[in-house]
Amino acid sequence: MSTGDRLEAITFDVRSLDRAVALLKGEGTTVRARRHAGGGSINDAAVLELADGSTLFLKQNSASHTGLFEEEARGLLALAEAEGPRVPRVLALFSDGHTQTFLMEYIASGRKGSGFFSRFGRDLARLHRTNRNDRCGFERDNHIGSTPQRNRWTRDWHAFFGEHRLLFQVELAQQRGHADTTMVRRTETLARKLPDLLPHVEDGRPSLLHGDLWGGNYMVDSEGQSVLIDPAVYYGHREADLAMTELFGGFSPEFYRAYREEWPLEPGYEKRRDLYNLYHLLNHLNLFGRGYLGSCQAILKRFS
Ligand code: ADP
Repeated sequence: MSTGDRLEAITFDVRSLDRAVALLKGEGTTVRARRHAGGGSINDAAVLELADGSTLFLKQNSASHTGLFEEEARGLLALAEAEGPRVPRVLALFSDGHTQTFLMEYIASGRKGSGFFSRFGRDLARLHRTNRNDRCGFERDNHIGSTPQRNRWTRDWHAFFGEHRLLFQVELAQQRGHADTTMVRRTETLARKLPDLLPHVEDGRPSLLHGDLWGGNYMVDSEGQSVLIDPAVYYGHREADLAMTELFGGFSPEFYRAYREEWPLEPGYEKRRDLYNLYHLLNHLNLFGRGYLGSCQAILKRFS
């Protein structure tokens, strides 16, 4: 079944939470309690306790953000098919016209056991190695935070990263008054030089990436295993996923050791890391403003 078919299977033609729960769990199953789950920057989130003793995780937002949860569900479905870290199972999407609702498996939080990061690193390398495509991009555009992320299928990683990642963000920054013409020119120069700065994807086959892999986008389940949440998936060079884990920290040395044991990196990754992260820093410039300008400019200066 394709991701689109799977998505259709969980898109319910109902208008109320009670009906969705009844369809999922059987007639007569009701919501016994709803606990607000803070932390979400974008959506309302809650844990639902059902009369049958089971639990669901709910996200809601205004229906006016068309496609918001379809996008997240598509990403989770793509990751779920992969042989990588666990992801919450997506269960239902529906809208009453005002509010859109996304129901997924509730992940009870646990503590990182010993070996947590080794297994996480290994699982991420497996995700990257076993789930690959012959082109960069994804079946749909999505978002990185609240910024649009363009995923047009593109054969060449350098062209994809240059145009749809760096230039897309810098042009947005210019429109928003955060970047001047010099900065845009520099990014254009850099984009042209990417074939000299970044390797091709291995065997011409880009990997499925989480896409937004900072420390806030994984959870630890009750078994002490990693769970990926909130993806911004696309197929691309796996170094981009790994670089993002290093941007804000939250991953231990064992994570990287295990990753490299499972699938070694080409030499020179450390020199390229900041170049991949320029994408996320430009995105932060667009989302949070000029506090990120200096770090963007420093990377541009170094590489262009
Ligand atoms: P948002 O899309 O609003 O940023 P997130 O997906 O980041 O929301 O989720 C917000 C918080 O809710 C996460 O930091 C995590 O602690 C928790 N969470 C997310 N998904 C689940 C889940 N399936 N089960 C339990 N808790 C979850």
